[in-house]
Amino acid sequence: MNRHIVILGSGFAGLAAAKALADKDVTVSVVDSKNYHLFQPLLYQVASGDLDAEAVATPIRRILKKRNLRFILSTVSGLNLDRRIVHMEDGTDLSYDKLMIALGSSTNFHGKTGIAHHAYHLKGLPEAEALRSQILLALERASRCQDLGERQSWLSFVIAGGGTTGVEFCCALLELFRILLPRDYPELDPTEVSVHILQGESVLLPGFDPSLRAYTKIRLNALGAQIRLETHVEDFDGLTVQCNRGGSIFSRTLVWAAGVMPHPLVVTLPGEKVHGGRIPVNDHMQLSGYPDVFVLGDLAASGGMEDWPQVAPFAIQSARHAAQVVLSTWNLARAPTPFRYRDPGSMVVLGRYDAVCQIPRWNVKWHGRGAWMLWLFVHLYSIVGTRNRALTLLDWGTDYLFHSAVVELIRR
Ligand SMILES: Cc1cc2nc3c(=O)[nH]c(=O)nc-3n(C[C@H](O)[C@H](O)[C@H](O)COP(=O)(O)OP(=O)(O)OC[C@H]3O[C@@H](n4cnc5c(N)ncnc54)[C@H](O)[C@@H]3O)c2cc1C
Repeated sequence: MNRHIVILGSGFAGLAAAKALADKDVTVSVVDSKNYHLFQPLLYQVASGDLDAEAVATPIRRILKKRNLRFILSTVSGLNLDRRIVHMEDGTDLSYDKLMIALGSSTNFHGKTGIAHHAYHLKGLPEAEALRSQILLALERASRCQDLGERQSWLSFVIAGGGTTGVEFCCALLELFRILLPRDYPELDPTEVSVHILQGESVLLPGFDPSLRAYTKIRLNALGAQIRLETHVEDFDGLTVQCNRGGSIFSRTLVWAAGVMPHPLVVTLPGEKVHGGRIPVNDHMQLSGYPDVFVLGDLAASGGMEDWPQVAPFAIQSARHAAQVVLSTWNLARAPTPFRYRDPGSMVVLGRYDAVCQIPRWNVKWHGRGAWMLWLFVHLYSIVGTRNRALTLLDWGTDYLFHSAVVELIRR
């Protein structure tokens, strides 16, 4: 009997599905356009020089070692659900009995082409390394620049988006400057450097408890961030960040952390899209009208009343559930009860030795050094691969013990 399961994407969802299907009496093909799994939650630390790129990327073949799992390095270009075929960019096709779509999301520039062209964003390793290079290059250029206005443009850094990624990156950037400027750039006056965080909504970290949001704001202010709320970036030409209020900012570095949208391939899938283009699925993660097709992770939206977040724990839980459904159709596992997301809580690190953490299930709201220790432990535990864990520990050890940035290379 053919039992070929094709998993598109080896992010959090794709990998969790493959692991749940390992050593079962099925054949699993995992397709990804990259040959590594990326631990996106720590990507901003690659951009801020705290982590080496190798620490957050794990080769997929090193993870998928079971005999029934195979990896295909290829880019998916189309789907024919009626004929059960996946089309690849290299011209090859792949047929399946069950399909799991876990292609994740991409950065949403909200149709603003100037921003899409000139801004930096945090989605993949090349983008994170390009951002780190831009930050260091800006310091180099400013250090040789006599013109006051031009120097200011190099030394102003703007982050659009006051959610988790924007806040974490803002803190990391301010910490980097605090350490790097006096040590490596004596020709620069640290008071000339400014880091702005612009948030469209009226609060930072909207999903968090008000007490933790207030704490975050105090911490950002203490680190020296310039916070603007209810401010949208309208355009960016590489030199001026235009805002809807409060005036423009003369800056050469805009970091876009203001939203994601589902993978472009999603528009080709049948049926309506909800919550910003995501695909509604039933409580077994199945696509309406296609019980052999499962939609996982960032792409999936609840067809019912639940509001599923686009976070790693949801991606993992949705994948494990879908794997169990698939196995149960071949009597290789018990049929699961309908999917319910269990929120393990959220954390945001606020630079060195500080974080906020909330676990709604236990009514826990925590901040400060204890929350930071918990964040450290959870992230070290969650990183895929022993070597990656060791590299991360080594990099963090260097950061914290020697008050240094680990990577200060400009790659051009
Ligand atoms: C900067 C950043 C910080 C984040 N921080 C946190 C955090 O602190 N905590 C948290 O819980 N979540 C965080 N998230 C969200 C979390 O990373 C996502 O919710 C999670 O990765 C979704 O998992 P996924 O498997 O659906 O997609 P992904 O993990 O994005 O995986 C999608 C996979 O599909 C592959 N792919 C894409 N297109 C193709 C194609 N055409 N052909 C083949 N393969 C393709 C990609 O290479 C990728 O490997 C963060 C995200 C970002 C970008």
